[in-house]
Amino acid sequence: MTSTQVVRATCPHDCPDTCALLVTVEDGVATAVKGDPDHPTTAGVLCTKVSRYTERTYHEERLLYPLRRVGKKGEGKFERISWDEALDTIASRLGSIAARDPQAILPYSYCGTMGLVQGESMSARFFHQLGASLLDRTICATAGFTGYKYTIGATIGTDLEQFQNAKLILIWGGNPIASNLHFWTRAQEAKRRGAKLIAIDPYRSLTAEKCHQHIALLPGTDAALALGLMHVLIAEDLLDHDYIARYTVGFEELKQRVAEWTPERTAETCGITVAEVVELARLYGGMAKAGEPVAIRTNYGVQRVHGGGMAVRNLTCLPALVGAWRHAAGGVQLSASGGFPTNKGALQRPDLLAKQPRTINMTTIGDDLLRPGSAEFGPAVEAVIVYNANPLAIAPDSSKVMAGFAREDLFTVVLEHFQTDTVDYADIVLPATTQLEHVDAHSAYGHLYMMANNAAIAPLGEAKPNTEVFRLLAARMGFTDPCFKDSDDELAAMAFNRQDARAIHFDWDALKQKGWQKLNMPDAPFAEGGFPTPSGKCEFYSASMAADGLDPLPAYIAPYESVASNPELAQRYPLAMISPPARNFLNSTFVNVKSLRAAEGEPHLDIHPDDSAARGISDGEMVRIFNDRGSFIAKARVTDKARAGLVVGLSVWWKKLARDGKNANEVTSQRLTDMGRAPTFYDTLVEVERVAT
Ligand code: SF4
Repeated sequence: MTSTQVVRATCPHDCPDTCALLVTVEDGVATAVKGDPDHPTTAGVLCTKVSRYTERTYHEERLLYPLRRVGKKGEGKFERISWDEALDTIASRLGSIAARDPQAILPYSYCGTMGLVQGESMSARFFHQLGASLLDRTICATAGFTGYKYTIGATIGTDLEQFQNAKLILIWGGNPIASNLHFWTRAQEAKRRGAKLIAIDPYRSLTAEKCHQHIALLPGTDAALALGLMHVLIAEDLLDHDYIARYTVGFEELKQRVAEWTPERTAETCGITVAEVVELARLYGGMAKAGEPVAIRTNYGVQRVHGGGMAVRNLTCLPALVGAWRHAAGGVQLSASGGFPTNKGALQRPDLLAKQPRTINMTTIGDDLLRPGSAEFGPAVEAVIVYNANPLAIAPDSSKVMAGFAREDLFTVVLEHFQTDTVDYADIVLPATTQLEHVDAHSAYGHLYMMANNAAIAPLGEAKPNTEVFRLLAARMGFTDPCFKDSDDELAAMAFNRQDARAIHFDWDALKQKGWQKLNMPDAPFAEGGFPTPSGKCEFYSASMAADGLDPLPAYIAPYESVASNPELAQRYPLAMISPPARNFLNSTFVNVKSLRAAEGEPHLDIHPDDSAARGISDGEMVRIFNDRGSFIAKARVTDKARAGLVVGLSVWWKKLARDGKNANEVTSQRLTDMGRAPTFYDTLVEVERVAT
């Protein structure tokens, strides 16, 4: 007789939606993964990627056993070894490096899972006890986070469950159809109820096509647009004076600053029309003044440029100027993560550090792996332990990253599900469990529910959870602190058990049974101010920024690479390139799932008809995209979805699955944003030429 059960789980991927899953398990085999119809934000719907999760879990190329490299680095040739041999080898190598200087060991991880347990818990404890270099996890969000927090104090904003009540939604720097599906559902409902949707994006994405209006500004000029909007709001008195007086600081200084951002200057900087600037400000301010909820959903596209932190800061000032926060469906959302009482101290145990080690920025891994030891840098990196990440595909300036990982003297361990581009450079590969095979607890960054993930099936092959790998390594390294014996359930029970002013009632067993629990947050978090900034107000003027050596007022910081900021470079490389997420991939995850890769076809580059004609490129021809950092090949799609002067290469392809073994990160740079030490993926000039096929 068949035994069938349905297990409550959570999508672990780097997506704001953090969906509640129902996994059907028949005789120990997961046969279906569906969205939980009762979870208020998932509402029974999953994206295409995760609705095919069993295809990924039981993929014929899953890594099921520990492996040791037998070919050259990058060749991807391995032989099977036992767990004992793998762990003994790793412990011995790390032990001898640590005896000289543990800072020569670098963990490299990001959001391959967003789980608080399989992400940074036992792994962080292990590296803290070891004294390894710390990793600055900047690759995605820290520029925007920093600008947002300087302005309103925390990554808190409009609740996802309110957006359907908004009357105007600015979708600023994101493509939610591809990467924030459950927000898009709400935005569509708002549209049905009469709301106007406006996309602000250099590219006419799937989402922009479905909005009432699309403002296609130049990449990296969002900060200028926000300044111009503030200029018009103030000049035309489309303001909430009472809200400004009670709940903001620095209005007079802001007024002076934005005076110079006339609609004409704004339009010229952004490459749009004066009317687009003025009409958007009038619509936004006018509707707010009429008492209508006006909302902004911004996303991380805005902040992947030189002035990315400031861009998010500037647009985060807008709701306070017009009093949009008074409404539950007004305000702005970048991320909801700041509402969660996550107990990182208990999970990660920074108190295990004997002394403060150096910090290496994951964005500059290319340069840092090639850096010799020095008094300034510390020891050269001798070992990298990669988990929940694929730096060969996702880190900028890829040829340097590859050269670093190709170092014969670098000891590299990778915990993975599949033989990714990074695995090809590993000395030891450890098979990791997927979300269906382990326990985890999750916060979210697009909604306000704490989430539980139960293990639905037994680990495939000899795969182990990350936590177990680091437990076993800790034992081999002789780490005796009892925290290295905590089980995954014990770790999950610490996830939200803070004991400070943000303490909540949190019962892990109850969460496991129910699957989710909403945080107790007010519907309109800043209706009466209460911003968690130093002043308690929305800070148009930020003394913290001044103290940190930054301009304390909203400003425009030009891209590193643009016609306006670097005309000499633009002569050689006249096209701006952005590389936003493809609909069927999630960063570099899912690229090896055949049905999803088939839906994407092959790497392509969207190019405007004027730009293709000037280069003699026809639709469907292969093109080489290049600059001083490198080049990659893609198939041209001639389309006015990309504005003239812009090319768009959807990402992030595995290099080995592209015909030239390269991807868009060959041409992106390791330069950092104005704040948050984050990457500038969308601050890239290139040239494009036809290649013979
Ligand atoms: S990737 Fe996002 S939309 Fe898709 S199932 Fe996961 S959380 Fe939901």
